[in-house]
Amino acid sequence: MEEQEIPAQIRFKILDDFKSEPQKFTIEKRVCEKHGEYECKVSENGIAFPCPKCAEEFDKRRQEEERIRNQKMIEEAERKYKKEWSIKGNISPEFYYAELKDFIPKTKAQETAKNAIQKMIETHKGKVILLGSNGAGKTMLASIAARDLRGAIYTVYEIATMIRQSYTVKAEKSELEIVKGLIDLPFLAIDEVGRIANSEAVQNWFSFILDKRHSRDLPTVIIGNLHFKKECKKGGCSKCFENYFDEDVLSRFHENTTVVMIKAPDERREKNTMIFSKDE
Ligand SMILES: [Zn+2]
Ligand SMILES: [Zn+2]
Repeated sequence: MEEQEIPAQIRFKILDDFKSEPQKFTIEKRVCEKHGEYECKVSENGIAFPCPKCAEEFDKRRQEEERIRNQKMIEEAERKYKKEWSIKGNISPEFYYAELKDFIPKTKAQETAKNAIQKMIETHKGKVILLGSNGAGKTMLASIAARDLRGAIYTVYEIATMIRQSYTVKAEKSELEIVKGLIDLPFLAIDEVGRIANSEAVQNWFSFILDKRHSRDLPTVIIGNLHFKKECKKGGCSKCFENYFDEDVLSRFHENTTVVMIKAPDERREKNTMIFSKDE
């Protein structure tokens, strides 16, 4: 007798029907194209059970499909969550979905920086200062922490602008509210320190924020294309780290802080690549 291909959903319907309504069966020898001869249960009204091995394979396939579907749903939810927290955290779109494992250190300093950020994400604590050339992944590392710790990353310029706007007529928040908002964040990175000229106003809110975050043991990252005065080739210049912080704040940095000086070894090469890789 020829085995007819019964669509899988119907087969399972049949099995369910058998479960709910006990019937009498006869056993017939049938041949499955794939698995060969098998003993087939046939009900009184002529409905045949599928080949048991086919049914088992179908079941496995269905479970696997469901597992993949669930996996995709989880991944989509994670992506959505990452994007939401990235937007809230003022993170650049290029880092919305960045992961620490995507950051491949090329130098010892980059490895130290990565480890410090990883520790920060795990412990929700600490201070990290990332200094050195642009293009070494400092902003990427801080952005990952900002997203995963539900905090934010701002450049000094952005904070200064927000504060300046707080003094305009249509301002929604006062300077104090803005500063308090930054102090309360579960994570804060301040990027591009030294990019804008240091003013007393900037130094004041900067010191206030860092001081409060330090006393509350909240994770904070400072990023700048800067160097320490003792390493300054000119014996003091506008890129000297010490110019941007007052003595009190500097003394805080001696406690529980990882300082990393990253020199991107291939910075010049990457710049050249950008210049020369034009479309023909
Ligand atoms: Zn079969
Ligand atoms: Zn200097």
